[in-house]
Amino acid sequence: MWIDTHCHLDASEFDADRAAVASAARDAQVSRIVIPAVARFNFSAVRELAHCVDGGAYVLGIHPLYAPAAQDEDLAVLRSEIHASLDDPRFVGIGEIGLDFFVPGLDAVRQREIYTAQLKMAREFDLPVICHVRKSQDSVIAELRRFNVVRGIAHAFNGSFQQADAYIAQGFKLGFGGNVTFERARRIRQLAAQLPLDALVVETDAPDIAPEWIYKGRNTPDQVPRIAAVIAAMRSLTLPQLALCTTANAHAALPRLALAQR
Ligand SMILES: [Zn+2]
Repeated sequence: MWIDTHCHLDASEFDADRAAVASAARDAQVSRIVIPAVARFNFSAVRELAHCVDGGAYVLGIHPLYAPAAQDEDLAVLRSEIHASLDDPRFVGIGEIGLDFFVPGLDAVRQREIYTAQLKMAREFDLPVICHVRKSQDSVIAELRRFNVVRGIAHAFNGSFQQADAYIAQGFKLGFGGNVTFERARRIRQLAAQLPLDALVVETDAPDIAPEWIYKGRNTPDQVPRIAAVIAAMRSLTLPQLALCTTANAHAALPRLALAQR
């Protein structure tokens, strides 16, 4: 089995054929799909979707791109939604949260306030986090250390080996997806090939980060095994070996995922 640890299945790109996309993933042995929230407006959508998709799971949080517009009240709503979701086996953590210093014009101070407020919730409820990290590797990890958040995933990892080691030392797994399929993505491919096997999880970030063979098209969760085949080949592993390891890693990063109902 495979786990897509990051898939925005609620995105409007899937409005026309969401059920078919989910069942194609199922047919491709992708038996779990983790759907991250991005802001208050989609908390209920990701929860409902996680419940109606076979193997669906969700995390709740405020994405850094939505942080500048987020109100303090949104944090209060998030906290109460998290609290209300603790008995829901399909709820597996806090995300998508983090810092984005790549997109110009995003208020960095507000991003950090929203990010750290959510790290406090991760501590309070003892939940893992799924982090969005763009041009912000060192800041994201520094706050994880400061708030003693010791479990989660750095999604679409694109840092250095040294930064990878820092996340791993903090207890985090690193998410790899469509980027590894591009020959020119040399460092990401080196990371996926050489990092300790127990640090890797696979993801699509669908509908974004499509693999090379559907470049500029829409990415879908059924692509996980084919993306993983690229990683397996680089590491001289069989596909079943990689499936077994990445599944165990995803369960270690998101422990509630191992308990969740299929
Ligand atoms: Zn995302």
